[in-house]
Amino acid sequence: MSAESFSHSDEVEMLVLNWIDDHREEIIAFLQELIRIPSVNPWFKPAPEESHEAEVQEHIGKRLEAIGAEVKRWEPSAEALKGYAGKPGYYPDHLFDGRPNQAAVLKGTGGGKSLLLTGHIDVVPAGSGWTVAPFGGERRGGQIYGRGAVDMKGGVAAMVMALEAVVKSAGPLKGDVTVGTVVDEEAGGMGTLDFVAQGYRADGCILTEPTNMKVAPLCRGILWGKLIIEGRSGHIELPQGDWRDGGAVDAIGLARVFLDHFDRLNAEWRVRKMHPYLPEPCQVFVAQIEAGEYPTAFANRAEVVFNAQYLPREKDENGLGGRVKAEIEGFVKAVAETESWLRENPPRIEWLIDADCGETPVDDPFVQMCLGNLKYVNKPEIVEGASTHTDIGWFDYYDIPAVVIGAGDPRKAHQTDEYISEEELINITKFIALSILTWVNTPK
Ligand SMILES: [Zn+2]
Repeated sequence: MSAESFSHSDEVEMLVLNWIDDHREEIIAFLQELIRIPSVNPWFKPAPEESHEAEVQEHIGKRLEAIGAEVKRWEPSAEALKGYAGKPGYYPDHLFDGRPNQAAVLKGTGGGKSLLLTGHIDVVPAGSGWTVAPFGGERRGGQIYGRGAVDMKGGVAAMVMALEAVVKSAGPLKGDVTVGTVVDEEAGGMGTLDFVAQGYRADGCILTEPTNMKVAPLCRGILWGKLIIEGRSGHIELPQGDWRDGGAVDAIGLARVFLDHFDRLNAEWRVRKMHPYLPEPCQVFVAQIEAGEYPTAFANRAEVVFNAQYLPREKDENGLGGRVKAEIEGFVKAVAETESWLRENPPRIEWLIDADCGETPVDDPFVQMCLGNLKYVNKPEIVEGASTHTDIGWFDYYDIPAVVIGAGDPRKAHQTDEYISEEELINITKFIALSILTWVNTPK
């Protein structure tokens, strides 16, 4: 695709950017309003007054209706989605009463490419230790504080205000723009599964999770596994002898064998599981160890909870990490073969989570367009994949070019005193506005 096909007049660009500068306070206020409607995902069992996902959707819907979008809200249903069992984001036990997804479609005049702007409106619980009210949306020193400020009501506020900016300053657009706001991302991504299951598609998709304004055309998949190693308890102060003669088997000692072998596996993964656009290779990181019961006995059992990441190129036919699971299982089996007790009492892995991933090639015109628009906010053209899971897997599955880009430090997400800078909120709003203008006025 030639560069010309993305061109629009400098004058229109200036109108849009100026509108955003002139409405800076309104954009900040809109984010504050979203933060002040607490929408903690019910999976975390919040107090009812902290869980108002529907109200957030209504607030966003009203704003988008006012600029001519057609807004639809509906409650997902695990029953209706059961055909997706075994696919990313499907959890048969998730409930959605009072928890609607929403699609706001602004129809274009025709002939342009369509764009989907999407993000989640649920947040994780505030947790303790805040120095400001977690749902207060307080402004202090150029920052806006509150649960969800960076993850990701900031990104959601920016996409809504960017569309408003374009409509109010640049007039009608050629392609359709859909603002898709989903629930339940923080507990596995069933909201996005439901959104695509409803048939929403586009020629390009921007997901505004925080990336420090780097363009992330990929994210990693994430596996949580629990390695369960059985031993045999016995008095720790007495000689035990061989296990075949009834001696104890120290499960902690066996766990240490696996930890050493994981180090060796990681050394190999550092070579094999690098990606040119990711800062670090995939690894098996041990997150939790539980073993032993009291001080006078060898541990009966050890449980090692690990987090292993996988690359989009490693996805299986369901779009999940089945191949990587098999690789880790094979590795554990091979390690078990080296030890007589383990050979007869093989450890097992219980898989806890498989969060999917996706990738759009960097040379895709959509990614290139996003990179080109960074100049409007004086940001360097940096491509860096998201190391964590995001919801782009399903867009990848349907061949929709997708980019994650958002303001703020992703490490601020889920933290005490979460905040986003006002400056960066305005920058991401400008970036999205210019991306709308560029993409939907490109001939289809
Ligand atoms: Zn998020």
